[in-house]
Amino acid sequence: MKKKITIIGSTGSIGTQALEVIEKISDEFEIIGLSAGSNVDLLNQQVEKFHPKTVCLSKKGEISDKSVKVLYGNEGLEELCSNKENDIILVAVSGKIGLKPTISAIKNGINIALANKETLVMAGDIVMDLAKKHNVKILPVDSEHSAIHQCIKDISQVAKLIITASGGPFLHKTIEDMKNATVEQTLKHPRWNMGRKITVDSATLMNKGLEIIEAHHLFGFDYDNIDVVVHPQSIVHSAVEYKDGSVVAQLGLPSMHIPIQYAITYPNRIEGIKSKSFSFSEIAHLDFEKPDFEKFKTVPLAYNAGKEGGTATTIINAANEEAVFAFLENKIKLFDIYAITEKIYSENNVIKKPSIDEIFETDNEIRIKTKELIEKLH
Ligand code: NDP
Ligand code: MG
Repeated sequence: MKKKITIIGSTGSIGTQALEVIEKISDEFEIIGLSAGSNVDLLNQQVEKFHPKTVCLSKKGEISDKSVKVLYGNEGLEELCSNKENDIILVAVSGKIGLKPTISAIKNGINIALANKETLVMAGDIVMDLAKKHNVKILPVDSEHSAIHQCIKDISQVAKLIITASGGPFLHKTIEDMKNATVEQTLKHPRWNMGRKITVDSATLMNKGLEIIEAHHLFGFDYDNIDVVVHPQSIVHSAVEYKDGSVVAQLGLPSMHIPIQYAITYPNRIEGIKSKSFSFSEIAHLDFEKPDFEKFKTVPLAYNAGKEGGTATTIINAANEEAVFAFLENKIKLFDIYAITEKIYSENNVIKKPSIDEIFETDNEIRIKTKELIEKLH
């Protein structure tokens, strides 16, 4: 029987790549739900090709196929993700809107393929506890976490997680270069073609900071046992060190198709979209280096917030996201993103064991304060 799947954020970078994967393995999957933000044209094309029963749009828009049920807004997304017919839901929306639908899916006992890391950064304790309670699997799509997931045989024997970072477009640039970086330079990622928000996060390395927090929640490791290493070629997607010192890494050409496919077909591996066999001799060498935390202060900031726990990570996530949006609108400089996030974090109180409502309240409050700070600077 075909697995039934819904993809929220099907018009984005992960969403469209997921559809490419599913097209290749269409005898394994039936798409029953799709969702878009504002790209109604692309959603209409996807509807024509994949025939979902229900779709969701963030605002009013026309779906040409009148047999499809159309939902709207955040409530629509929650309804779409509550449909128990689903075997799995791929959460590929960007930013904070991923959290509520993920919770709805978990409460309805539906497994999650999770691309949206903000969900765990905002509310990792709550989400992972709920998943445990409802016996739901959270399968990572993020390439580093997929790699770690693939490397772990018996988690009780793993001593340390080692997350690789490509280093982004400014890896070997000076702090001065970074201070003057334009939006265009920042969006030119050397290895990955991703949405704008995550691409900026990759340039500041905040993406790595968020991934450390994501790994902490997914695999239950202390922050002291999660390391980051820079690896510009993005061939080693991450590794784990076992207690006896043996290191197991997952390798592959940089493509999101593999982690997306593994998350939705887990525990099976199928040929799918694989285009080329991996060749060690063609790659010839792999480089690794220590991250420069003077240049990329976002990583120590994420470690600190992660260790503090509670709403600390909700705060840095919200402040960073608003600062990234302001940078994309040319309101602030690239380095201001860290400065703003750090200032907001240091000036706001952290709730140790927040409820989900307190998390959303914190998120809202921090976004307002961050926008006010940005307006003052602008
Ligand atoms: P994109 O910006 O490319 O896509 C985001 C998707 O979310 C689009 O379908 C967009 O719709 C939709 N969306 C945006 N705003 C809203 C809204 N208000 N309501 C409903 N839908 C909305 O992002 P990515 O695909 O790059 O990233 C998605 C998530 O996956 C992020 O959390 C990111 O951190 C994570 N991730 C991405 C990776 C990548 O390689 N891209 C790698 C690892 C993780 P529309 O375009 O129609 O407006
Ligand atoms: Mg990643």
